[in-house]
Amino acid sequence: MPFGKMGASTPITTDAIWNLLKQIPDPEVPAINIVELGVVRDVIFSEDGSGVEVVMTPTYSGCPAMKVMEDDVKEKLSAEGLEVKIKIIYKPAWTTDWMSEETKAKLKAYGISPPPKLTFEHLHPLSSVKNAEVMCPFCDSKNTTLTSQFGSTACKALHFCDNCHQPFELFKCH
Ligand SMILES: [Zn+2]
Repeated sequence: MPFGKMGASTPITTDAIWNLLKQIPDPEVPAINIVELGVVRDVIFSEDGSGVEVVMTPTYSGCPAMKVMEDDVKEKLSAEGLEVKIKIIYKPAWTTDWMSEETKAKLKAYGISPPPKLTFEHLHPLSSVKNAEVMCPFCDSKNTTLTSQFGSTACKALHFCDNCHQPFELFKCH
């Protein structure tokens, strides 16, 4: 694989890198991209501009989708002739607060309840998200019941809406 193959053409900008990263969908929720998900923390060029380091934070440690996202980033940016390095940082830990309101609205449109605002209670290891605060993405009712801690992926929990009687997934990673 050719590394650092930068022609005399205009050098790629940081903005261009971010725009490329925005073309990579979240492998678990294709409705949003990895930048919207908030896992991309920083883009740093090497001094000679031939390489780029992408700083990423997994949604939770051991998230199986992270490897897919890393590979997608490498593939996407390598195609631009850049040498790509991925740096994984765990602190500060990923939080759903890194998702914009717009992103949360996209999740909702996809039929996944956006993560509720976290409180101290949620962060307590013995506590699970309180059902009363989980809103149904279809009818906005908070009258919902947790049916399984694990939905289609470890990142999502299954809930059932007692108001419109539809099951839905909650994006639960904190
Ligand atoms: Zn409902």
